[in-house]
Amino acid sequence: MTQAGIAPKQVQHFQRPFENTFTKNQREYTKVLFGGLTWKHEKLIQATLERLGYLCEPVPTPDKRAFQLGKEYGNNGQCNPTYFTVGNLVQYLQGLEASGLSKQEIIDKHVFFTAGACGPCRFGMYEAEYRLALRNSGFDGFRVLLFQQSGGLNQAEAEAGLEMNLEFFLGILNAMNIGDVINEVAYQIRPFEVNPGETDRVLTECMDYLAQCIREMKPEPTKLDKFLHGTGLDGEAGRFLHQLFAEDYVKPLRVIRDRFNAIPVDRTRVKPIVKITGEFWAQTTEGDGNFNMFKFLEKEGGQVIVEPIGTWIMYMIHQVIQKYNDEKGLEDGAVLPSMWRVDKRAKIAFETKKKILKLKAAEKIFKREYHRVVEALGGTAHHLVDQYELQRLGHPYYNSRAAGGEGHLEVAKNIYYCNKSLTHMVLCLKPFGCMPSTQSDGAQSAVVSHFKDMIYLPIETSGEGDVNAHSRVQMALGEAKAKAKLEFKSALEETGMSLDDIKAYVELHPELKQPMYNVPKREEVVGVAANFVLHVAERMKSEARTQVPA
Ligand code: SF4
Repeated sequence: MTQAGIAPKQVQHFQRPFENTFTKNQREYTKVLFGGLTWKHEKLIQATLERLGYLCEPVPTPDKRAFQLGKEYGNNGQCNPTYFTVGNLVQYLQGLEASGLSKQEIIDKHVFFTAGACGPCRFGMYEAEYRLALRNSGFDGFRVLLFQQSGGLNQAEAEAGLEMNLEFFLGILNAMNIGDVINEVAYQIRPFEVNPGETDRVLTECMDYLAQCIREMKPEPTKLDKFLHGTGLDGEAGRFLHQLFAEDYVKPLRVIRDRFNAIPVDRTRVKPIVKITGEFWAQTTEGDGNFNMFKFLEKEGGQVIVEPIGTWIMYMIHQVIQKYNDEKGLEDGAVLPSMWRVDKRAKIAFETKKKILKLKAAEKIFKREYHRVVEALGGTAHHLVDQYELQRLGHPYYNSRAAGGEGHLEVAKNIYYCNKSLTHMVLCLKPFGCMPSTQSDGAQSAVVSHFKDMIYLPIETSGEGDVNAHSRVQMALGEAKAKAKLEFKSALEETGMSLDDIKAYVELHPELKQPMYNVPKREEVVGVAANFVLHVAERMKSEARTQVPA
């Protein structure tokens, strides 16, 4: 064998690196770091974790420097969000070191909490990437806790330092839902605000107020709670029912609704609506990770519809239901019992049905909770889009069983928002190196050739090349503006009134200047201004009809 050059070599098998644990007794001096969402979501999550007794802090929104650090310390050939998020953690830790903490103190007193998955896209590599970059940047041993998006937290890893109980999950879900809806409401109001900067000022005040309410929240016992307490059923089931029927979160939301409602708006401004879709992180972040695209669009005169995280949660539940429906209880290569074992077959069918029913109940409950927040905040934010409809629309172009990233959602949302006349243009933010987004980009060619009126623009977010991306967006936005103007012109013509007539009526009816005033949407009409003039004209005409002649 030696002569043949095939002498056995000592094989060094891979071993999972030794992990420092995060235990309960470390909680009082260990800060939990997290990030990856918008500052609104993060502020509410922080308040929730603080209420539960954790020290915590969101890491700042990733910027270009974070991206460079991700490239420097991580593997080559990753997708764009990996560079940004991994580099961002390294940048934050370097900042702590610069402020005077030693590396050992940083490692001992901080943990990073993030979502993970087994793939099939590069998301499955995030954990390894974090560890590699931390090691390369001198923070070897820094703890990264993973929340598996499809399997709950790896408790062995967390060692109960982070207690994943019902209170924790409900708190995080509430924070995410509220963050989603407030975020959307602010994007709805800002383009029409009469006093520049007022929406952002009110938003900041409201977020501070809400975070304070969450930190100090003491669940108010409802009649149901008292009854359950009397019957001894006030454990986890009682806590869950409290979530469904109590108004702990709803009350502060109503205060916020009134604060927002006091911002005067001018809905006669013609703005093209731009629906944002794309990869989860690229469409959520509000910074260099997507070329600060939302700010840019608003500056250029657009109105943005952001994507809620709630859609993603519903998508994950939906995909599991789909999987159970497909497998029919035969997981992992199991064999269907023979025909005459009716009992075994019935048992498998029953177990599958049970699992599906549980998930369908979860879908319904999640939707209900989300829409409760929408209603409490004035009812102007969009409801969650039905996943079954998205699947029906997207599947002919992108197989809905193809998992990874946003799967068929990118294609489906494009068709949904255009077909329902909810947007003038769809801007799809696709990270450089993103596998699922690249696939769906191919499918979108078929979509745009079938739906000729669509203005659809995919933009690759690469961390560099802002000018190029902004200029492409400007061109597509120009088309969307023309579409919005044309629509407004024909709406105004339909009313038979002038814009000055409409404006004069609005001046006399201040409720029409309130952001929470519900302007009905006409089926084929997209823009806010067009729908507004049609509605005001209808009001004017019906008032004229009901006026008693002198
Ligand atoms: S969806 Fe795309 S960008 Fe996001 S983790 Fe997967 S490969 Fe990366």
